[in-house]
Amino acid sequence: MGGRDYKMFSRCGGPKEACGVFGVLGQEDAAKLTYFGLYALQHRGQESAGIVTSTGKSIHEHKGMGLVPEVFNEPILNGLLGDMAVGHVRYSTTGSSVAKNAQPFVVSHGGMTLAIAHNGNLTNARKVRDDLERKGSIFQTTMDSEIIVHLLARNLRHGLEEALVKAVSQIEGAYSCVLMTENKLIAFRDPNGFRPLCLGKLNGGYIAASETCALDLIDARYLRDVEPGEILIMDERGVKSIKPFPPRRHTFCIFEFIYFARPDSNIFGHNVYAVRKSLGRELAHEYPIEADFAMPFPDSGNYASIGFCQGLGMPLEMGVIRNHYVGRTFIEPAQSMRDFGVKVKLNPVRELLKDKRVVIVEDSIIRGTTSKMRIKTLREAGAREIHMVVSCPPHRYPCYYGIDFSTKGELIACQHGLEEVKNFIGLDSLCYLSLPGMLKATGLEENSFCLACFDGKYPVQPEKNISKLCLECREAQGRCQHPYP
Ligand code: SF4
Repeated sequence: MGGRDYKMFSRCGGPKEACGVFGVLGQEDAAKLTYFGLYALQHRGQESAGIVTSTGKSIHEHKGMGLVPEVFNEPILNGLLGDMAVGHVRYSTTGSSVAKNAQPFVVSHGGMTLAIAHNGNLTNARKVRDDLERKGSIFQTTMDSEIIVHLLARNLRHGLEEALVKAVSQIEGAYSCVLMTENKLIAFRDPNGFRPLCLGKLNGGYIAASETCALDLIDARYLRDVEPGEILIMDERGVKSIKPFPPRRHTFCIFEFIYFARPDSNIFGHNVYAVRKSLGRELAHEYPIEADFAMPFPDSGNYASIGFCQGLGMPLEMGVIRNHYVGRTFIEPAQSMRDFGVKVKLNPVRELLKDKRVVIVEDSIIRGTTSKMRIKTLREAGAREIHMVVSCPPHRYPCYYGIDFSTKGELIACQHGLEEVKNFIGLDSLCYLSLPGMLKATGLEENSFCLACFDGKYPVQPEKNISKLCLECREAQGRCQHPYP
């Protein structure tokens, strides 16, 4: 899993990832390690990638649009000198997908250079940015992440630690960040802990990464998660932990378990693969349907289908075959070939599907348009009955914490009831996992999660009219024209 085929095609029409962050301290080949770390985190963002390194005296950076191997090559990595680095893969959730918004974001202030890589969305970005601009800050990008750096820069005269505490005290929302000065690596996470962030050790140095799969690839040892609300400052003397916030309820993003994180990662203290299988088992418990076999559309639903089939003692089949070699773009046939876009990525196995009763196990339905096209190809391949089970409840509300869940208007379950969604997609039956079933499958305390996209209860209230492009609209017109409805 991971990489563009996985996201661009087998899950097209689904929600987009937020970002992946990676940081290294005390490693000879810091740039290359970061390259591999970002490679492992590619599933979290495919629009741009960047690495910034430090020798202790000089900062080196390279960023660009595209996938990690498209942005970097051996000569570029060889030019990124130093034993410290921070890296970022981006899917834009605040600010356009343009080169100037690629991260890590670098700024020099008062003789100190800072580079930041941010995963998540600030929910009070407009207000804080307005305040900063009134006080004379000049912004280079339309990313909310730049706000954090400006807040830091304004307070550096008090020392780095105090500047960090003052900066995080003024921002709200979701942020899992790695930050680098010339000689320190800093990892910090918002007090709700929306997005994952972990700490690892390698050859006496430290690694911070969005997910543990990035530690695995470079043979780093997982030490622990960066705690919600914690700031870790790492240098050659070791790690210092600061906890500036009073304790508050954690609200981990449950959708990281369902969809975003890689199944080989452990996040929020649990293995993603195991949770996805449990989600499938809960589905089997709630919807013990009779059918000849169950199948996923690879790769979404792969792990939930295993649990679903184990729960019901039902055969698991791969009723569609994914072409792993389809790139980001392909040449369209000159003559119109029916459903070419769908079939080039996923082709049904006719012999398997003919006259069969089939259950599709999906991890989510966002707009429903991709599912509709895929179901049509299964019907044409001869499936007699097609049922769908979804390993989470219906998405009815947008996400303000770093996931690009379109707007309410684009969420099919917000606009339509179960029966209408079933008919739109072309199914014989449709079942979503219940909220209690989903929570039970995680094995964590029920109140440890953000469930806002399912129940509309936002753990951190966003300011009015925030959206992906609101900082740009604000620049252009003084008022956002792209609010979430
Ligand atoms: S609203 Fe949904 S996607 Fe966003 S943080 Fe909450 S659970 Fe995750």
